[in-house]
Amino acid sequence: MTVVVEAKDLRQVYKIRRGMFRPAAHLQAVGGVSFAIESGKTLAVVGESGCGKSTLARMVSLIEKPTEGSLRLDGADAVDTPARDKRRLRQAVQLVFQNPYGSLNPRKKISAVLGDPLSINTPMSRAERSERVLAMLVQVGLRPEYANRYPHMFSGGQRQRIAIARALMLNPKLLVADEPVSALDVSIQAQVLNLLADLQAQFKLAYLFISHDLAVVRHIAHDVLVMYLGHVMEQGPKADLFARPLHPYTQALLASTPGVAGRTQRIVLKGELPSPLNPPSGCVFSSRCPYAVERCRADRPLPRLVDGRTVACHFSDQYLESGFPAVPSADNALLAG
Ligand code: SF4
Repeated sequence: MTVVVEAKDLRQVYKIRRGMFRPAAHLQAVGGVSFAIESGKTLAVVGESGCGKSTLARMVSLIEKPTEGSLRLDGADAVDTPARDKRRLRQAVQLVFQNPYGSLNPRKKISAVLGDPLSINTPMSRAERSERVLAMLVQVGLRPEYANRYPHMFSGGQRQRIAIARALMLNPKLLVADEPVSALDVSIQAQVLNLLADLQAQFKLAYLFISHDLAVVRHIAHDVLVMYLGHVMEQGPKADLFARPLHPYTQALLASTPGVAGRTQRIVLKGELPSPLNPPSGCVFSSRCPYAVERCRADRPLPRLVDGRTVACHFSDQYLESGFPAVPSADNALLAG
C-alpha cells in the first residue's frame, strides 16, 4: 500500500485580537497531530465540537497552512509546495462537506456542477467532459438524465451523492470528508456510507473522515484518532479502540454512543469543553476526567505507545492491565456495563 498523506506534528495557532489595550491572545486549535493514511484506508478523526478536527481537515485539504509541522501529500511537500506541484496537489485532495445543498451552486445544472472541474483543470473536449459526467453519475448511483436537473430537485442523500461525484471528477488520491452524513436521515446515512466504501475499494482512495458520531466511525474507519482541545488523546486501529479503549475520554465517547458501548466501565462526562484560550494545566482533559489526580494537573502526559496504539494518559498501562476503575466521584454516575 502507498502512503497518500503523512502529517507530522501539525499545529495551528490563531492570533486573537482582544482590543487596543490588551495584548493579542494565542489560540492553539491543533497542538501537534501526526498520522499517515495509506491508499484504500480510512482514518476517522473524532471528538466533540471545538476539538480541532475541522481545523485539521482544513490543513490537510490545503485550505489553511499549518503554523508548524510537516505535511506530505502524494509524495510531495504540501506545506512549502513548489509551484510546479501546487495544481497537482490541489487535485489530489478533495473535500466533501456536511451540507451538500450549501456546497452545490443552486443556479447550475448538475452537468455544469460536475463538468466545471474538468473544464478548468483538464484539456478534455466538451464531448469527453459530458461522457465523464454521465459515467460519474452512474458511478455514484444516480441516473444519467439527472445531469439536466438543478440541485434543489434532489433529496439530501442524492445531493450528497452529487457532491461526492464532484469530488471524484479529478481522480483524487485523498478525500477529506467533514461530517459527510451527519445532516442525513439515519436510513440514508447507511446508503451514503456504503457508497463511500464501494468507491474506496474501486479507486483505492484514502479517506480522512471527520465525525462526532462513533456509530458512523465504526462503520467506515480502519484507524481512529480521538481529539480533545486540539490534542490527540488516543490513536490506533479501530478494532482495538472500540474493543478496549485506554484513554478515559475515548471510553466516555464510547459510553455516550448507543449501540457501541462495551461491557466496561461507563464514564459520564461533566461540563463543557474548556476554552482553548485557557486550557487546563497538565493534562488537557483533567478538568473533566473522573480519574484526575494531582499529577494530572501538574504534568502533561505525552502521547506514547501502549498496546499497539498511541495514548496520552499517565495511567493507560494500569487501565490496560485491570480496566477502568469504578468512578471515584459521586458526581460521575457509574452505570452498570
Ligand atoms: Fe485523566 Fe489523568 Fe489520564 Fe488525563 S492523565 S486522562 S486527567 S487520568
